[in-house]
Amino acid sequence: MRWFVAGGTVVTGDGCTVLEGATVVVEGVLIADVLPAGTGPISGRPESARSGAGEAPVDGQVIDARGCYVIPGLINHHAHGCTLGPLFASGAKPLPEEEVRRNLLRHLEAGTTTVLSVDGFALPEEVEAARHLAPVNLKTATCHTPLSLKAALMADGSGLGPRHRLQTAEKMVEAGAVCLGEIGSGHTLGGGGQEYLYIPRAVRERTGREISPAEARALKTAVLGRHIDPRSYREAAVHDVLAALGLADALPAEEARRLVEESVLPSFQVGLDAMREAVEVGVRLGVPVILHTAAPSGEVVLELSRRGGRLIAAHCNHDSLLVDEAVELALRLRAAGVLVDVATFDAFGARHTTPGPEALLEMVARGVADLISTDYGGGLFDPQLVALAEVLRRGLRPLAEAVAMATGRVADAIPGLAPDRGYLGRGRAADLVLLRQDDPTRVEMVMVRGRPLEERGPHGRSVSVPR
Ligand SMILES: [Zn+2]
Repeated sequence: MRWFVAGGTVVTGDGCTVLEGATVVVEGVLIADVLPAGTGPISGRPESARSGAGEAPVDGQVIDARGCYVIPGLINHHAHGCTLGPLFASGAKPLPEEEVRRNLLRHLEAGTTTVLSVDGFALPEEVEAARHLAPVNLKTATCHTPLSLKAALMADGSGLGPRHRLQTAEKMVEAGAVCLGEIGSGHTLGGGGQEYLYIPRAVRERTGREISPAEARALKTAVLGRHIDPRSYREAAVHDVLAALGLADALPAEEARRLVEESVLPSFQVGLDAMREAVEVGVRLGVPVILHTAAPSGEVVLELSRRGGRLIAAHCNHDSLLVDEAVELALRLRAAGVLVDVATFDAFGARHTTPGPEALLEMVARGVADLISTDYGGGLFDPQLVALAEVLRRGLRPLAEAVAMATGRVADAIPGLAPDRGYLGRGRAADLVLLRQDDPTRVEMVMVRGRPLEERGPHGRSVSVPR
């Protein structure tokens, strides 16, 4: 099967190349060529094609890409809930298969054709099983190291069976894991996972009351501060939070303190040590390491930059950091040779776990972010495209550079993740996406390995193939 994706604005993924009116030629599962303007099957303006006038016949199907950006399939190097294995660095119970499928399709429909699962306790067969749920190029990270396991068991561990506990990072890398990650998490390091899962659960068990992630955060911050330090405890602040939640009678401040500390602290120190251990293992195995970066762990990530190896500081726009702190941390990380990732979380849409996208947009605008991923946002994550479209809409980066943050640069950052993807060029896998230039949130087509996606979601549009 041969396709001509013709007449669009082709953004190759290398961070600098934009080819107006070019044609991507797809043969079988690969890109056979990228033809410059004037040499493909469509050279006129959209109006002439609609009237059917003057196009020469070609040997293959033509997809009219005029008015569209044609970009490489996006590569998301930080996703959760995409395998049938344990969830998060806390080794929580796996999601039901239907939910995993929903997550994979949510990525795919928004043009993400390669997904790296950073639920690092999954076993190879639990990753393989998920590959049958959606036509995504799905890869896995590993966090099978002794201290990561210990931190997981202290925070949760309910999804970890005997085989997860006996697995090693060495064996996982042999079996295809492309990096270590996610090392540390909001669950083990007192972050978002504590806010949307563990602290609300503890409050529910103690009082029978439901609290939201924002309310759990307020309580946690009053008890432990933004940097997870028991010395930050302020009884008056805890009182105020409990009163505002209507919990003042049900939960005395000292008890709330104990509840939060018991939820957050046991895994916290171990979680930091697990990051140190993982960097050693990553250096030894020659694979990158993805480290959970937030207010409590930022300094440790910086410290680890001196150990060698390739480090990716995950979601440096984490909302435990003030925007200025995040920018400052990113500058220091970059100076130390660490790649800076920013994550969408649910900051654009649901805003259930993350109040807004200001930090991400500011960091991209100031040029201190290297990569864009999604993370999980409590399951309500905004796909990479949502951030990319907003960056383009506001003109925060040049088009080619913005696209590279979710394509070529990601492929370069983690060599095993998508060695034949991330760029539109001869011999690469034919994963590509058509976005409307007048509204880049609108996906006109997703092609995976040379096949236009048939599985469409609520926002997907059908492929138009002129006859
Ligand atoms: Zn994460």
